[in-house]
Amino acid sequence: MFMSGFILYLKGCGVFVLGKREFQENIIELKGIGEKTGKLFNKLGVYTCGDLLYYFPRGYDLFEEPKRACDLKVNVICACRLTVIGSVTRRHVRNLSIVAFEAADETGRVKMTFFNAPYLVNSIKSGTTYIFRGVVHKKGNFFSMDHPKMYKEEEYMPLIGHLQPRYPLTKGMSNNTVMKSVEKAFISVGKMQDFIPEEYLDKLDLIGFSEALHGIHFPENASKLEDARRRLAYNEFLVFVLKLRLLKRAGEEVKNQYPMMEVADTTRLIESLPYRLTGAQMRAWEDIKSDLFGPYVMNRLIQGDVGSGKTVLALLALLTAAANGYQGALMAPTEVLAAQHYESFKEIIKKYKLNNLKIALLTGALSAKDKKEVQRQISEGEVNCIIGTNALIQDKVNYKNLALVITDEQHRFGVRQRGTFAGKGESTHVLAMSATPIPRTLAIILYGDLSISVVDELPVGRLPIKNCVVGPNYRPTAYKFIGDQVNAGHQVYVICPMIEEGELDGVENVTSYTQMLRATLSESVNVEMLHGKMKPAQKDAIMEAFARRDIDVLVSTTVIEVGINVPNATVMMIENSERFGLSQLHQLRGRVGRGVDQSYCIFINSSEDEDTAKRLDVMNKTNDGFKIAEEDLKQRGPGDLFGVRQSGELCFRVGDIYHDSDLVRASASDADMILKLDPELELPQHSVLKELVNTKSADFVDFTTL
Ligand code: ADP
Ligand code: MG
Repeated sequence: MFMSGFILYLKGCGVFVLGKREFQENIIELKGIGEKTGKLFNKLGVYTCGDLLYYFPRGYDLFEEPKRACDLKVNVICACRLTVIGSVTRRHVRNLSIVAFEAADETGRVKMTFFNAPYLVNSIKSGTTYIFRGVVHKKGNFFSMDHPKMYKEEEYMPLIGHLQPRYPLTKGMSNNTVMKSVEKAFISVGKMQDFIPEEYLDKLDLIGFSEALHGIHFPENASKLEDARRRLAYNEFLVFVLKLRLLKRAGEEVKNQYPMMEVADTTRLIESLPYRLTGAQMRAWEDIKSDLFGPYVMNRLIQGDVGSGKTVLALLALLTAAANGYQGALMAPTEVLAAQHYESFKEIIKKYKLNNLKIALLTGALSAKDKKEVQRQISEGEVNCIIGTNALIQDKVNYKNLALVITDEQHRFGVRQRGTFAGKGESTHVLAMSATPIPRTLAIILYGDLSISVVDELPVGRLPIKNCVVGPNYRPTAYKFIGDQVNAGHQVYVICPMIEEGELDGVENVTSYTQMLRATLSESVNVEMLHGKMKPAQKDAIMEAFARRDIDVLVSTTVIEVGINVPNATVMMIENSERFGLSQLHQLRGRVGRGVDQSYCIFINSSEDEDTAKRLDVMNKTNDGFKIAEEDLKQRGPGDLFGVRQSGELCFRVGDIYHDSDLVRASASDADMILKLDPELELPQHSVLKELVNTKSADFVDFTTL
């Protein structure tokens, strides 16, 4: 059984076990949650009270002191104290009713528009003052707000400084329902015992567990939110490091049960490739070989910047395993990436007649019948190089003689392996590949059980990517540039953070953006979209069409971030760059600059904040992922809401290895202290910790839904 060889650490899905029995209670038992709401929650992965308490907001709305009209900021949520002037009008456009009016203070006017709220015509009176709160737009010289929330003075004042949680939702579920349900879960669960010894908390000035869990949902203000987040981040890191320490103890120096020898195929492939391997690639390859041929099982991480050429190293390792008579598997975090590896390997196998490799693709997208067939081929040993997604590690898959496991884009899994197949008690070689260059000091803690090879050299002959960080008013220029590049035969990516309209105000979404671009660019330009809610087959079709050059401009969410290789793409444009961490921006940028042509990256910064501008400027200054990671570490300031920033990094839910690097370090030394006192976590005060460490938190993160 392959599955239990991996300890999976995740974000996103709860299924949390904590000491308290009330945590396990089904949410249906909560007053006010009926069957229908219960089902919707289930859809979001929430079954128990514990899950609900761990269903964290993805962001918060801050109720600010109302601004004057002249101080409004475009594209962000603002509150403004204005008086309704003139008349309130109502008109119809097709089946849409539109209510509009103007509101003003002594410094300016704002146009208000409401859709399908005809009743407002009678309730809003000229001359009345309200606090209007919503996203501000600017059309020509006019500020406008669509569907602002309206408050009376006395309603708004007590809210100032408060943060309101915003939860990830599903159709039919309102933010309010989640808020109410979480409140009820807190009441039902009651006071929670802390499970981290007080002396550790005191040393780091961390708040209690109960308080932190409540604070992450309903923070009184930004600083309380940060207190809550830090405490929960510490929990995550501590449990993570404890797992790691216990793992390492079990996994140290395991005998190599799959001895291999150098094979002619690899040397031949290296010599016949159209390029020469870089020095760094060669060094990493030597490391891999000495593991595979040596006395102990391989546990190695290949850390290389985007585009440094890690895939070919995976192929060489797989080739070695196959020619030595074993099976090898390569696991990618998304269907798209798995399919891409499969296609490119197939091509290389054919081109260089690597007849020892019998390759197969196994992903969730296969039909049941095809899946069964591939599973048969795997168990009977008809194939020896298996590429896939997490479908590779499901129970149904029985390998005949698997000797090598490779994970691509390791940071997206956050997978900790010890390479032990519990069912058979055999240890496979493990090779993890990551393009998140984590600063060495943190890597030693976070990847403590792996040897590390760094591929810190880009192939020669690549032109450095040209970068610009610009405001939204640069868009017309950017679209013209994109048009020119398409005319020159190149392809373009545009990244938007959201999938559909209305998910988050002031943030671009793939759906509307695609329509807008189709209207803006010349008709001959083929614009398509890609996002994680599409069916796997549809996603694959889009990616394949893009790789075939049938699509010129691909508007996508960050699903594209992971490893896609289309060397003909020369422009990357990232909307709302302010919402991404530097390392993630670097990953996104890494989708271009992979061929011989000059590539460009346009970062649109929609925030007017000075610190943000300074942070993004790093992207202008360097294309070196390791430098960027160091900067990320330095620059992350407090107050950056999680949820937005940390996606794409090592997969902690609230912890951010950069921002919270002090906690990462502290948790490492605390874990050592705890284990010194209590090596097996048997003392009663460590019982919950033990439970957490032993929980296979949930099974896997499906990043394809991002
Ligand atoms: P990553 O490290 O980001 O996974 P890939 O393995 O996808 O990068 O490689 C990016 C591109 O660079 C591919 O098109 C690959 O064929 C090419 N490549 C790999 N190694 C070299 C090299 N030594 N010289 C030139 N091109 C290379
Ligand atoms: Mg890659």
